[in-house]
Amino acid sequence: MSRQPSVTKTLGVCTACGAYHAVRKFEDGSVYAIGSPQGCHCGASEFTIPDA
Ligand SMILES: [Zn+2]
Repeated sequence: MSRQPSVTKTLGVCTACGAYHAVRKFEDGSVYAIGSPQGCHCGASEFTIPDA
């Protein structure tokens, strides 16, 4: 049994260009794009969760 961190897989919006990305939202509020380590194609790496 491994302890599961509280991570939510959801849809995020790039704060710079508004593009949608699949993201992981962590319990501490940090958000990372899934499959895009560098972040958005526009160069930004910050995302917001629309339903937050
Ligand atoms: Zn972007």
